[in-house]
Amino acid sequence: MDLNYPPEAEAFRAEIRSWLEEHLPDGWFDEGFEMAPEAKAEFQKQWTTTLFEGGWICATWPKEYGGKGLSTMEGVVLAEEFHRAGSPLRADFFGDTLVGPTILQWGTEEQKQFFLPKILSGQIAWCQGFSEPDAGSDLASLSTKAELDGDEWVINGQKIWTTQGFVADYIFILCRTDPGASKHKGISYLLCPMDQPGIEVRPIEQVDGSAEFAEVFFTDARCPKENVVGGVNNGWKVAMTTLGFERGTSATTGYRRFEKELNHVLELARANGKIDDPLVRQDLARAYSGVQLMRIAGLRSLSAIVQAKKDPSVAVLGATNKMFWSEYHQRVMNLAIDILGADGQILTGDPEAEESVPGYGARQTSERYPASVLQSSFFFSRSETIWGGTSQIQRNIVGERVLGLPKEPVAADQRSAAKATAPAG
Ligand SMILES: Cc1cc2nc3c(=O)[nH]c(=O)nc-3n(C[C@H](O)[C@H](O)[C@H](O)COP(=O)(O)OP(=O)(O)OC[C@H]3O[C@@H](n4cnc5c(N)ncnc54)[C@H](O)[C@@H]3O)c2cc1C
Repeated sequence: MDLNYPPEAEAFRAEIRSWLEEHLPDGWFDEGFEMAPEAKAEFQKQWTTTLFEGGWICATWPKEYGGKGLSTMEGVVLAEEFHRAGSPLRADFFGDTLVGPTILQWGTEEQKQFFLPKILSGQIAWCQGFSEPDAGSDLASLSTKAELDGDEWVINGQKIWTTQGFVADYIFILCRTDPGASKHKGISYLLCPMDQPGIEVRPIEQVDGSAEFAEVFFTDARCPKENVVGGVNNGWKVAMTTLGFERGTSATTGYRRFEKELNHVLELARANGKIDDPLVRQDLARAYSGVQLMRIAGLRSLSAIVQAKKDPSVAVLGATNKMFWSEYHQRVMNLAIDILGADGQILTGDPEAEESVPGYGARQTSERYPASVLQSSFFFSRSETIWGGTSQIQRNIVGERVLGLPKEPVAADQRSAAKATAPAG
């Protein structure tokens, strides 16, 4: 196995490095570099525009839609260099990683011309309307309805767990458009504007007082007829593409956040002497191996993409990787709380300060529930085996598609729902 990148990829790497050095603030790469809060806020505001002008957001998209037409390998090198520099490379996750590539693949020319430039420039923020109270893993059971009324779809129903539902301008939503068809066939994928009287967004408050996601209620909400992606009643196929994009991202950069965080946990263990406990040492060594496995799995995914491999084990790499990193993270966060000892049991965050753990960046904690950054990460890790498809669903996919295990004992029309990946978050 040759783990080196081809020479042209390295030449491109040098180009990105010099662009970053030229455009990031002076001193950015120096040890201990910090920005004053106002300067940082200003930088963050400007950075999306700078990226947009440089053409780096979604740079693998074709040039006619505002990308740079980069190859997959160049896209990976680009992500690696931005990650190394610790600088963001996106406008809006739901736009540039999920719905944008879906519109590129399935959208009409008018949809591409209208939506793609607005995604790249960060003009439109998106949210994902897949899950419903009675349709999560079994997404094809969804019951939110859309009916045509002249030139518009009229939508009635409810979505749940809609991340950033309260800031989004548009929702990409799955609706039942043919109630008579079998459950995977009568679904359409619509792009619906959020700012209208028929849509009510209710934030779901979490224990710390924050609300990252929402319930979204549709009562005769209106969506232009032409905003259906991939054809009426073809939404299931389109949705599976969106979910595939979610797992295909950050193949060779995903592990780095865990590597940085683990180094931080190691420092804690050294500082408070827990490093001398043989059981803790064993767990830390296991965690280190986990990070290395993620690195290798990332390279495996990359080479499968570059070589366009098609065998079943490659097709489920997204499922195995998701299962692996989310379960790794829960184990290591449990370990981190153990290492913190009594400090792990009380809330040690300072609402006045901006705290940061390497790999996560700065975060401000809430006054009501002042968890430290590591404690917040511990809590969030609980959700990571759920969003983007639960671990059980990933195991079903691997069991059925690769290991050839017997199918789940469910009715025939539900079988493909169980096999298909669950909704993203
Ligand atoms: C932080 C976060 C953000 C999210 N953001 C979004 C978002 O922006 N948009 C969106 O649409 N959704 C979002 N979700 C929802 C997410 O996609 C669903 O929670 C997820 O798909 C699971 O569905 P569910 O919650 O209905 O659980 P269920 O599907 O009811 O599952 C309950 C339990 O049963 C198990 N189970 C279910 N079916 C099977 C089976 N066939 N075999 C074995 N076990 C099974 C599951 O693994 C799970 O343990 C988000 C979720 C979280 C946690």
